[in-house]
Amino acid sequence: MRQLSYERADDPAQAVAALAEAGDAAYLAGGTNLVDHLRLGITAPQRLVDISHLDLADVEDLPDGGLRVGAMVRNSDLAAHPRVRPDYPVLSRALLSGASGQLRNAASTGGNLLQRTRCVYFQDPTTPCNKREPGSGCSAVGGWTRYHAILGASPSCIATHPSDMAVALAALDATVVVLGPGGERRIPVTELHRLPGDEPHRDTVLEHADLITAVELPAPSPGARSTYRKVRDRASFAFALVSVAVVLEVDDDGDVPMVREARIALGGVAHKPWRARRAEELLRGREASLAAFREAVDAELEQADPVSGNEFKVPMARGAVLAVLAELTGLPDDGVEADGDATDTDHAGGTTEEAIDE
Ligand code: SF4
Repeated sequence: MRQLSYERADDPAQAVAALAEAGDAAYLAGGTNLVDHLRLGITAPQRLVDISHLDLADVEDLPDGGLRVGAMVRNSDLAAHPRVRPDYPVLSRALLSGASGQLRNAASTGGNLLQRTRCVYFQDPTTPCNKREPGSGCSAVGGWTRYHAILGASPSCIATHPSDMAVALAALDATVVVLGPGGERRIPVTELHRLPGDEPHRDTVLEHADLITAVELPAPSPGARSTYRKVRDRASFAFALVSVAVVLEVDDDGDVPMVREARIALGGVAHKPWRARRAEELLRGREASLAAFREAVDAELEQADPVSGNEFKVPMARGAVLAVLAELTGLPDDGVEADGDATDTDHAGGTTEEAIDE
């Protein structure tokens, strides 16, 4: 039996100090990912610092109209929050598409961001894995790659980030508030997670003892439309093969609708939520038409570099993005999904209301 010490923190500064003084320690929040890893032998910290009782469970209005979400707000509570549902539907839908009701009741906002890849080799300590054991090799290369990356991967690691919530936060341009031994700092959520490069054991830019204390959402733009769509192997309790979060602003005043702003993030395709910057750039100022959407998504996916066994994700991502853009602009999407072979697309568990009732 392995020994580990347990300490319950009463405030964020105490938690950071407790972790900083221990060389090999981890924060324990909802425990929905870490406890599995302790059982599987994927990680073996000598100390656990329990942050689940910290006073970080509030959702507060910000003076500029945005929202501050405490790191210990549970996923279920955030999805059902009376401001999140109407003002940030992309976030509510993404949360409700993740895991199961039981897990969402336990999982925290901060922990959701920091959950680790579900690469089957990472979760099997008997196999080589550069993320679990740097320098040991990557068992996924040449292995089972259905859930692996098509964008931004490296020869060292082709894992994907599993969070749905993080994809929505990327499309929302959220900011992560972090308390570390040197004080508080803010990190755009799009810069929190890393691409693997030759250091795949580092999932994020956080340093030892850094504690996520909150996530801040910018004020919703008037008229902005947003949604989240997830393509997966079964209707619930499954990670994304591909997911898409879109926040779209369209001017409907002229003869033809014009895209004023587009923010698109993809999940299930990269080591981090993938902002489709090329597609966004091509869409801004363009007519909101299927032709423009196709041109934009094709330009984005030119960068895709699938491995044997996950080539299907490229047309699947194309179809999912096109379907969401068509949905948000009211364009007929006949054939859009068939274009991308995304006919199994699940609409993130139905409507938000339906999913809350599950
Ligand atoms: Fe490990 Fe990454 Fe390779 Fe999976 S893809 S086995 S996480 S190095």
